[in-house]
Amino acid sequence: LLSPGGSLGVTIFEEMTTLAVSTGAINLGQGFPDEDGPEEIKAAARRAIADGANQYAPGKGVPVLREAIAAHQHRFYGLKPDPDTEVLVTTGATEAIAATLLAFIQPGDEVLTFEPFYDSYGAIINMAGATHVTAPLPAPDFLPDLTVLEDSFSERTKIVLLNNPHNPTGAVFPAYVLSRIVELAAKFGAIIVSDEVYEHLTFDAAHTPIASLPGAAERTITVSSAGKTFSFTGWKIGWLTGPENLVAAVRTVKQFLTYSSGTPFQSAIAVGLGLPDEFYTGIAATLRHKRDILAEGLRAAGFGVFNPSGTYFINVDTAPLGIPDSVELARRLPGLVGVAAIPVPVFCHPEGAERTRSLLRFAFCKKTDVLEEAAERLATLK
Ligand code: PMP
Ligand code: GLN
Repeated sequence: LLSPGGSLGVTIFEEMTTLAVSTGAINLGQGFPDEDGPEEIKAAARRAIADGANQYAPGKGVPVLREAIAAHQHRFYGLKPDPDTEVLVTTGATEAIAATLLAFIQPGDEVLTFEPFYDSYGAIINMAGATHVTAPLPAPDFLPDLTVLEDSFSERTKIVLLNNPHNPTGAVFPAYVLSRIVELAAKFGAIIVSDEVYEHLTFDAAHTPIASLPGAAERTITVSSAGKTFSFTGWKIGWLTGPENLVAAVRTVKQFLTYSSGTPFQSAIAVGLGLPDEFYTGIAATLRHKRDILAEGLRAAGFGVFNPSGTYFINVDTAPLGIPDSVELARRLPGLVGVAAIPVPVFCHPEGAERTRSLLRFAFCKKTDVLEEAAERLATLK
């Protein structure tokens, strides 16, 4: 059941959430917050429903949201996408990634991702009939070796699919890594697809969108999602921005995947994107505090802890506890101590699964008392 990334069984998130529910365990597996986002965003969605925004939205997204996305890219990063032609609203980042890959890849093309990689990447690359090439992100800092990265590109590399900040490792790529990716993508004629759903959830350094680097914008599609920034993962509102010719190709595919995305949620998320800077600094500070609580608990429980610079996730090494197999531990943990987590090998192909065999991912986007209770339960493992 817990098969390495790329297979198309039940997703690891669904499997571990089901296990958490059936055992009554604290679910630090699937990454979703246990508190909703801002009240004014919810009120805006209720208002939109009451006001009759209940039929199909325009395929590319309601104008007020496309304008808010463009304004957000300008406010935080100085980028200026045209809301009419360079922004596309999608049904979560998941659809943005799927539609982008389906728009550009043909059977036989190569798609390069880092490894571990978010599970939907492997599935969509397989569905599109492309070859999935990976470059490892080794512990402890989960940053790529640039020579290995260069060797992973080839004349057949059609897309380099990047996730920064990175799930599951929590790495935030420094500028020298991003610039090298841009240089290599240009050299090999590849499109960059950058999944930046955790753009506002960084703890030590501000996020740099790869599209803001010299030479990147004309070949980059940037993906994000309201799920993470505003804690409404169930609304499934995502988006992408990029140059007109690339966005037009993705829009064509999106028409036949979902046609359009949830109408009343779109205008509500536009309200969210307009929130003041304090909202954005506040979510990062709150999450940083939660990270510190869980990291402390995991250390006290005897795990080797890799402190993340961003995202919802902490990775630990289970080997110091005398348990070298995180898949095995993840299966047993809910029954053993009442906590669920996700083993990192499921985000890998077989070779990467071997390299990450003792890594386990815990989500800390939960209430502080829940994290404290989880830490207490984990302490009984020793
Ligand atoms: N990319 C990454 C790296 C994620 O962690 C997630 C899940 N949260 C997604 C994409 C999917 O986002 P959405 O729920 O907006 O489809
Ligand atoms: N992105 C979330 C995670 O990594 C899960 C989303 C999902 O269940 N597909 O935990």
